[in-house]
Amino acid sequence: MSAGCCTASPLAHAHLGASVASAGSTIAPANHAAAVKVTERADLLVEGTIVSGKFGAPAAEAMAVSGGNIIAIGTRAELEGLIDASTTILKPDGVVIPGLIEPHMHIWTSLLNLTWTDISNEACPTFDDAVNTLKAVAEKTPAGEYVYGKLFDPSLYPGEPPLTLDILDRISPDNPVLVMNASMHFLYANTAAFTAAGITYDTPDPVGGEFGRAGGKLTGSIGEAPAMMMMLAHMPKPSPQQVAQGIDAILKMCASAGVTSLREGATGSLAGVSEVAMLHQLNSAARLPVRVSTSQFAIMPGKASPAEVAAAWKEAGVTPFSGDEMVRADAWKLTADGSNQGRSGYFMQPYLGEETGGHADWTPESIRNAMKAGLDDGWQTTIHTNGDAAVEMALEAFEDLLPHYGKNDLRHFFVHYSVTTDDQIARTAKAGLSATFLMNHVYYWGAAFRDTILGADRADRLDRVASAIKAGIVSSVHSDYNVSKVHPLQSARTAVLRQLKVDGSVLNPAECATPEQALAAITTSAAWQIHADDRGSLEVGKRADFAIVDVNPWTSDPSGWDAIKVSATYIDGTVAFEA
Ligand SMILES: [Zn+2]
Repeated sequence: MSAGCCTASPLAHAHLGASVASAGSTIAPANHAAAVKVTERADLLVEGTIVSGKFGAPAAEAMAVSGGNIIAIGTRAELEGLIDASTTILKPDGVVIPGLIEPHMHIWTSLLNLTWTDISNEACPTFDDAVNTLKAVAEKTPAGEYVYGKLFDPSLYPGEPPLTLDILDRISPDNPVLVMNASMHFLYANTAAFTAAGITYDTPDPVGGEFGRAGGKLTGSIGEAPAMMMMLAHMPKPSPQQVAQGIDAILKMCASAGVTSLREGATGSLAGVSEVAMLHQLNSAARLPVRVSTSQFAIMPGKASPAEVAAAWKEAGVTPFSGDEMVRADAWKLTADGSNQGRSGYFMQPYLGEETGGHADWTPESIRNAMKAGLDDGWQTTIHTNGDAAVEMALEAFEDLLPHYGKNDLRHFFVHYSVTTDDQIARTAKAGLSATFLMNHVYYWGAAFRDTILGADRADRLDRVASAIKAGIVSSVHSDYNVSKVHPLQSARTAVLRQLKVDGSVLNPAECATPEQALAAITTSAAWQIHADDRGSLEVGKRADFAIVDVNPWTSDPSGWDAIKVSATYIDGTVAFEA
């Protein structure tokens, strides 16, 4: 989804837009931290094994915190003079590490199917598992109520088996059944779901959408947003309270993986400025479990052009680095192409067995204008690019535009930067751009890319973290949730090992990152990209954002990083999450 950044927006807008819009457009930051003063006395002393995040540095024994900031770190004896009777002593059962940074995920589009049953390849290793999982849900669901499945990915099952109307009717004849493909480009429905939506074999296809038909009947497969929306329009819509609960659930899930700061990847695509307004309202009611950096999406419902979208953000007071320490607007975001596993990423060469290499969401001129709209207002500009032709298009636009804006520290970056050429990496470095990689592309889809979608040569050019870092490109890793699960330590593990989940084989060992580079990719490098220079490591002057884990990743074998357990996270020295 990569598709989540684009295709899912009209779906999410139709389903959730009204509830989110009820938050209005007044941006009122809570500024929780403004009330707290930093002094020379520690209000909190953390004792134990404290890992700064500096590779190779020995762990400290104690960390002194005042007003949410780290004021000293060292031995217990060195910090003795900073404490008094009022100092809270925290002796966590585990290792203290820097709070992890997730530089690209989606809150809003993930709300669309948050409560749907997960039938991803990870949850359901075989096609039959996926079908049987839905059947079990259907059996427990009252007749007439919807049964939902999400993250179904036929590309990860042998022979790419289709989910047909017959199979879905066997899952339940009495409940409408809707299943979302992992790419978000396809939906599958049973007869009851078509009946509920009033769709028959004779219903005309909407522009840009298609109801699959074969042998005089519907196949159950529904392609692209306009047709998918005709099905989803009949689902019960969540209330504003349910939306708020969904956001809380997503942020807690991120925190449970050790995350203390994240970048939302397409803010405003669903309900415009109300999304930022709602985040501030929730944070005012109770501090959020994770700090949220928003990236304002260049496409907004009801706005005709990126320039109009930029004007709407500005008018609402959502300007670069506005907000507070918990919710801050930091970037401009656009999506250049689709998803490689959905065969909608934009490539110079055709997909295996196909005539074309996908397509771009823009023309070279329109993408330049969309980027310019953000750059003109002083935004850090971030672009989703999956295929090598999409990287080329966005890179050419950056090369053309950036010289007009002079020297600055905005840190523009590519999101995904999935398949690249040597020339593109060299030019990306020269242009001063950075990159964040969707490392789970390798872990979950690496074999599908190599064997059925892209071929070995292009699969080897997937997620080239080692080459990027060697060229001087600041590189982080991300989940693109809900494309893949938020688990920075697992993503870092894959950056080091590049092992495929399916058989443990290694995809292009020349691109393996070192453990030091991979841990920077989920801490300091990711923090730098989201302009969180006061986070990402535990050092004097930085914020006391940390996680408590059972094993120290900085001294342990990367193959075990995915099994590390997080028992709590802290933001500004106070509990943000407890397992
Ligand atoms: Zn995304």
